[in-house]
Amino acid sequence: MKAKRTPPPRALDGSSEPNPPRFALSRSFPAMPNGFASRLRGVCGSVRADQAARVEASRDWWPLSTLWALNGRSPCLPDLVAVPSSLEEVSAVASLCNREKVPLTVFAGASGVCGASIPLQSGVSLDMTGMEGIVDVDATSRTVEVRAGTFGQAFEDGLRSNYDLTVGHWPQSIALSTVGGWVACRGAGQFSTRYGKIEDMVTALEVVLADGTVLHTGGAYPRSATGPDLTQLFVGSEGTLGVITSVRLRAHKVPPAESKFAYGFTDFESGLEACRRVLQRGATPAVLRLYDRAESERHFAGVGACVLLVADEADPVMLDAATKVVADECSDASQLGADLVETWFERRNDIPDIANLVAAGLVVDTVEVAGSWRALPAIYAEALAALRSLEGTLAASAHQSHAYSDGACLYFTFAGRPVDDPRPGDSARAAATSPAWKPEGAAELFYRAAFDAVTHAALRNGGTVSHHHGVGLNRAGYMREHLGTGLDVLRSLKGALDPNGILNPGKLGFVQ
Ligand SMILES: Cc1cc2nc3c(=O)[nH]c(=O)nc-3n(C[C@H](O)[C@H](O)[C@H](O)COP(=O)(O)OP(=O)(O)OC[C@H]3O[C@@H](n4cnc5c(N)ncnc54)[C@H](O)[C@@H]3O)c2cc1C
Repeated sequence: MKAKRTPPPRALDGSSEPNPPRFALSRSFPAMPNGFASRLRGVCGSVRADQAARVEASRDWWPLSTLWALNGRSPCLPDLVAVPSSLEEVSAVASLCNREKVPLTVFAGASGVCGASIPLQSGVSLDMTGMEGIVDVDATSRTVEVRAGTFGQAFEDGLRSNYDLTVGHWPQSIALSTVGGWVACRGAGQFSTRYGKIEDMVTALEVVLADGTVLHTGGAYPRSATGPDLTQLFVGSEGTLGVITSVRLRAHKVPPAESKFAYGFTDFESGLEACRRVLQRGATPAVLRLYDRAESERHFAGVGACVLLVADEADPVMLDAATKVVADECSDASQLGADLVETWFERRNDIPDIANLVAAGLVVDTVEVAGSWRALPAIYAEALAALRSLEGTLAASAHQSHAYSDGACLYFTFAGRPVDDPRPGDSARAAATSPAWKPEGAAELFYRAAFDAVTHAALRNGGTVSHHHGVGLNRAGYMREHLGTGLDVLRSLKGALDPNGILNPGKLGFVQ
């Protein structure tokens, strides 16, 4: 099952002495105590201090990481990289770091796209990919326990070939990301409309707290009324509240039947309406993916419509029912060939060539937000108008890719040129900045303005700032506006669980 991490798009020379860090923050932790490295080696069998390992641990797939790499910079180097292979080692590393007040930043696939695993205050980076493999399968109840550092593709392959089961979580980054990373980021897979997001799949966790205490949340039962759900406290915690070492997920028999259809709508809004009606009639086809005109043309040149891809897999009776509901609710749309769905399946996990786009001087990224069905048309229109009003924007588009009975995710893509003052007409409005990241230079300024454009459209209409990529460093500055006093509650929890603030400092809107 062993799989290796795929490094972010642009290689960084890890052999020479240090790349100038992008984040040269004044350290709010004391200097690493004398002899710490040898004490760390005493509790963890694999500890690396070489430049190559430190560089690899310093960055993720955030497009700004690629931009800095092109300039020979790593965001911020950890002092040491620990690679535990057991629960006992994770616990001992956390306990040591906590006692000696050394920052501890978890990373695994490093496929995050928000800078969440960048070790802003240096210290120890904890590489979880040594903790891999399926631990237990309950074939009767259809649940599976898997160690957190297991890469997604290896996990699904093992589950399918040995047990004829699937968890149905298919992020585009399935080969780049780990199960623990899915949980830590509250991720979504491409089949989420049938199987749910990761928070719908997870039933229990094993977590190491900042002081090394091992916590088990949830259990071998489907639901419980024993106070708030501690499992959900750690889902989306991005390494700031504990280290997830093991995960139990719901699984399903590999479905015996599948279907594929495509429809064409005259406009994006009527396509959204059809998606809403499908979900509200109780049909949940695994893939219900609606592209706006610009994205439809990009993916299916000459199609001349807003394309809705529908793909499902299930028991044949369920499949038939869902197919009928979809056909009913799309009766006003044109029927397109199922080859469009086949094309999507062939290309769905292709990794965009971000490095070449960035090297060509472009600033590109995607922004996934979510809102209620009532709010989605306004979020779509306002976000695109705001993106297009920026000085430097070259392209802006969106699709709907994760739908629920009450709303959906809108996934925007933007491309532009670096511009020092991208929003001259709106210069009074400050860019959303976090204590840890303030944009510098034309590329970062355009990037920030584009992210703000979409995010503020979502917030104005009661939406959320992220549907599945998470917060990390990139969105830390939006957390107060989004959560209000909820951020104080989160900060209290952080203070109680991690009083020395060692776990992934500077992320998720936490000051430290
Ligand atoms: C090309 C591409 C496509 C993508 N497509 C999708 C998609 O379809 N859906 C989606 O949801 N995401 C997607 N992503 C984003 C990314 O793959 C996910 O966020 C993924 O869940 C991150 O997992 P990871 O193992 O790489 O975590 P990392 O990037 O290593 O870490 C991310 C965060 O999780 C924390 N973390 C990781 N492991 C643990 C652990 N064991 N315990 C505690 N904290 C931990 C880290 O501290 C960090 O804060 C995509 C990324 C890329 C590059």
